[in-house]
Amino acid sequence: MNREAFRKISYGLYVVSTIQDGKFNGQIANSMFQVTSEPSTIAVSINKENLTHAYITSSRVFSVSILAEETPMTFIGLFGFKSGRDTDKFKNVKYKTGKTGAPIVLDHAVAYLEAKVIQELECGSHTIFVGEVVDYDSLGNEEPMTYAYYHTVRKGKAPKTAPTYEREDPPAAAVTTASRHICSICGYVYDPVLGDPEHDVPAGTAFEDLPADWTCPVCGAGKDQFEPEG
Ligand code: FE
Repeated sequence: MNREAFRKISYGLYVVSTIQDGKFNGQIANSMFQVTSEPSTIAVSINKENLTHAYITSSRVFSVSILAEETPMTFIGLFGFKSGRDTDKFKNVKYKTGKTGAPIVLDHAVAYLEAKVIQELECGSHTIFVGEVVDYDSLGNEEPMTYAYYHTVRKGKAPKTAPTYEREDPPAAAVTTASRHICSICGYVYDPVLGDPEHDVPAGTAFEDLPADWTCPVCGAGKDQFEPEG
């Protein structure tokens, strides 16, 4: 059996947001889909360890923002690799309050859906929440991000709590003398062979030569959070 089979499943990339006692939280999710058309229902798979899980379980409402292909990695890092337990993720983010009271992230969203939970399914590490859609809108004509685009073009990673998380094998012995560095927060690997062209760091730049204020393009962590790989 080849586990590559799982990587061939197609997904999008979304921010799932919710509320509890007036407090907002949101997280990145890829496992979201429409279940029925009449009435419109959608489902999301959320890890039980995530704060979003506790909030949805309590408030029974959530929103889904469908992210654009060109969503900055730091934005995905904010919602995907930081916990709402120690970060107010909505502080510098454009959002509106939906009909259910749940926040709806508008930054980098091409559309949104808002739902009330009508059913939930226990699935070991995750719960699948099925919601009846109570509001929705399209916000732009940009291409929505696919999970494949996030991984292959944007070099994004999955956190350990993602339903689709796969442990990566350590790379074979380094092929260059310049060392790769790994972000201890999100697992992003800075490869000097590639540089970080999105942030004007040309290919061939050693980790040590990155500007002091350079941050992880995925989660925004500082240079001091990086360790030499292997
Ligand atoms: Fe990182």
